[in-house]
Amino acid sequence: MYEQQHMNEIVPRLFVGNQIAGSIQDLLKEHGITHILALGIFEPIHDHIIFKNIRIMDVPEENLIQHLDDTFDFIHDAYENGGSILVHCEAGMSRSTAVVAAYLMRTRQLSPQAALDMVKAKRTFAQPNSGFMEQLDLYQLLQYRVDTSHVAYRRFLVAGMAREQQDTGYIVNLALTPNPEAGSQSQLIVRCKKCRYVLVNKEHILDHEPGKGQQAFAYTKRNTDIQSSTPSSAVSPDIHQQPLNPLLARLGTSNNNCSSYFIEPMEWIHVLQDSQIEGRIDCPNCMSKLGQYNWSGAQCSCGRWITPAFMLHRKQVDEIKRRR
Ligand SMILES: [Zn+2]
Ligand SMILES: [Zn+2]
Repeated sequence: MYEQQHMNEIVPRLFVGNQIAGSIQDLLKEHGITHILALGIFEPIHDHIIFKNIRIMDVPEENLIQHLDDTFDFIHDAYENGGSILVHCEAGMSRSTAVVAAYLMRTRQLSPQAALDMVKAKRTFAQPNSGFMEQLDLYQLLQYRVDTSHVAYRRFLVAGMAREQQDTGYIVNLALTPNPEAGSQSQLIVRCKKCRYVLVNKEHILDHEPGKGQQAFAYTKRNTDIQSSTPSSAVSPDIHQQPLNPLLARLGTSNNNCSSYFIEPMEWIHVLQDSQIEGRIDCPNCMSKLGQYNWSGAQCSCGRWITPAFMLHRKQVDEIKRRR
């Protein structure tokens, strides 16, 4: 039926729809819609309806998760005040269903799949794109709050920046990791051998399994086969292959086969602001050379490709372990 495809009521007073649903006055009136959340490029066209627009594209690379606190608040406030809400995008298939699934996840403590199943029960062709599904996994891991300081979120951002640098040669929103806090209680710190400047904590180090094959900064639950390997001669620095959930990686920071620490892009690496694909990493305090970086990745001495790569050479730094 005409109306069925345009909008569906997922739970009482919360609808998902397409752009036509967002524009037909009679349809909105019939369902008593008081609020519209439009995802894409839309302008408010109805009087008496509270309107919010978030300009996101339906592509896996789009950072949807950064908006989920905002979309939650909009839907939740409207809902708590007795409103009826239409969340729409263009087709009512990916963006709007992802946002409503995230809302259901947080209000009911659901997994992404369980929330999506609720949406699909009313709108059968609901299907967020693959990147949005991964971000819903991440949203669950963050316990339904977009915690930008969480290590999993930072690694998600790093993977996005590496892709952007490779695709366009430039990173629009460079999100570097703040320097380790003074007096941090991390059980491991790495500092400059020469001047003892504290460079990173344990949480800033990307652990990797020594060996062949690739490893990327990524957050994904979909491919955690860290043992799989490809001949290093056939390896190209493609971050889309064999992403590894760093949280599942073994904690092997002091493996003897590895000549480098692979770290997050830290704020103190000032040269990262220059948007070069590769360069040197120097100590910000004494300027001695500590290592190098390459947004396309680099190979550790153990054979593993890491993408992107921000490497500190072990012989230039000291690792200090603390007792708890
Ligand atoms: Zn290694
Ligand atoms: Zn130094």
